[in-house]
Amino acid sequence: MSCKQQLVILGATGSIGTSTLDVIARNPSQFEVFALTAGENAKSMAQLCLEHHPVFAVMASDNAAEQLKQHLSGTACKTIIRSGTESMSELAAHPSVDAVMSAIVGAAGLIPTLSAVEAGKKVLLANKESLVMSGQLFIDKVKQHKATLLPIDSEHNAIFQCLPGALQGSKTNAKLAEHGVSKILLTGSGGPFLTRDINTLSTVTVAEAVAHPNWSMGQKISVDSATMMNKGLEFIEAKWLFNCVANDIEVVIHPQSIIHSMVQYQDGSVLAQMGNPDMRTPIAHALAYPQRIDAGVKPLDFSDISDFTFTKPDFARYPNLKLAITACEAGQGATTTVNAANEVAVAAFLKGKIKFTDIYRVNAQTLDATADVNVHTLDEILACDKLAREQAVQQIRKVQC
Ligand code: NAD
Ligand code: MG
Repeated sequence: MSCKQQLVILGATGSIGTSTLDVIARNPSQFEVFALTAGENAKSMAQLCLEHHPVFAVMASDNAAEQLKQHLSGTACKTIIRSGTESMSELAAHPSVDAVMSAIVGAAGLIPTLSAVEAGKKVLLANKESLVMSGQLFIDKVKQHKATLLPIDSEHNAIFQCLPGALQGSKTNAKLAEHGVSKILLTGSGGPFLTRDINTLSTVTVAEAVAHPNWSMGQKISVDSATMMNKGLEFIEAKWLFNCVANDIEVVIHPQSIIHSMVQYQDGSVLAQMGNPDMRTPIAHALAYPQRIDAGVKPLDFSDISDFTFTKPDFARYPNLKLAITACEAGQGATTTVNAANEVAVAAFLKGKIKFTDIYRVNAQTLDATADVNVHTLDEILACDKLAREQAVQQIRKVQC
């Protein structure tokens, strides 16, 4: 039996997936890739299989799995190829597996991530949408199955690092105030449109929206960063990860993305986690926790930093952030709805079907149009998600008129 950590990477071909594989490749004595999964990009997956030799590779569809087989035919690659969410879930729960990187984008990540949680794995959570969508249910399952939940989102990973040990992880019901914490300061860069004339936001192009000034990321999260819905989803994510309420969290704009978030204590201390904006830092932190390993990240040189600034977010510029905070206060039905509507609206924007500013209109109108339903069980969550997607499609038709 190998003593290396056996890993499953859900969403291996994406930005987080490939950064994870980079960190693993730098630390071959500690980690081994058991399975890789991806959506449709068979060509990228073939490359990853040849480089990392997973035992299994899973594509979302039969068609993509077939393409992967063709790409690998005639090579020495022995990877077993499968398809579908069920296979992803099965491998995420496989007895040989120690840790699962949850890096599928959007609601599609929920079922395989829950499968890893239910199998009591160490779950490295990048897929914030799954937690936003299912909040209490997700955290209850983490506790019930004694899974270890480690945040990959750079802000949440920073907060985790700045919290006292008793509050790290989601296994306890400890409250922030009981351990001297007064506030979580969630930082965000403000994205590419921090200083753009607000009256021109309706003409933003897809290329402008995905061009984040500091971070290189997948398309959906890049658009979410431009609208600051990303910070809104992270606000909800923080509520669940750190067992707190909306009032405990404050969003701070920090355009340089050097501080990745902070924790303020009752005695006036503020602890910040800093570093160059490179996702390999939180990935390496979570992979090796509680040890530290090489992540390949350029060390921070303070003499290179000319500005270090902080402001409050302007909700007129970022109405999606306000909407998500309101949903967070309202409860699970609202957060599941906003998450689903936003996924549909961002996809429509990326396809050129709606304007950048319509993303907010679709999200807000979907939330307005959806009755406040009870959302507790997985079936209720999935039904709420489906209803919100249908509503969002109708709202898109309206804003197109
Ligand atoms: P990405 O678009 O680069 O990659 C997404 C991955 O998910 C790809 O491997 C894709 O093939 C797979 N995928 C897409 N649809 C799928 C489906 N229906 N079924 C199965 N697999 C599917 O995205 P990313 O930027 O790597 O982000 C992944 C997750 O991590 C998101 O939830 C995002 O919010 C979160 N995150 C990303 C960053 C970042 O820097 N990129 C930072 C923090 C959090
Ligand atoms: Mg983040």
